[in-house]
Amino acid sequence: MSESSIAANGRFDRSVMPKVHIYAPPVTRRFVLAKTCPDCGKRTRMLGWAYEWHGATVVCLRCGREWQDGEWMPLPFMRGARAHNIAEAKDRWRRGSRHNV
Ligand SMILES: [Zn+2]
Repeated sequence: MSESSIAANGRFDRSVMPKVHIYAPPVTRRFVLAKTCPDCGKRTRMLGWAYEWHGATVVCLRCGREWQDGEWMPLPFMRGARAHNIAEAKDRWRRGSRHNV
């Protein structure tokens, strides 16, 4: 934060805040796939979300592998990246249940 972003009265001047916008295209459809995961090779369920202008995102609930628009997404080099993906997908599914997406 630069000095100039603090107004004279000490209050934060919102007009100079960078626009924080997380790009999230509208979800048009969500779905559950029951199939054999190409990554872990097991029968599994996958949660998927289809977007208006993009291909679908699909997450394997067994190994946490994620695909977007049919492309394998690189897993972040962090401990528990797959578990994190799974938790996030489930969480998102639950949230979506309340908002009907
Ligand atoms: Zn898998």
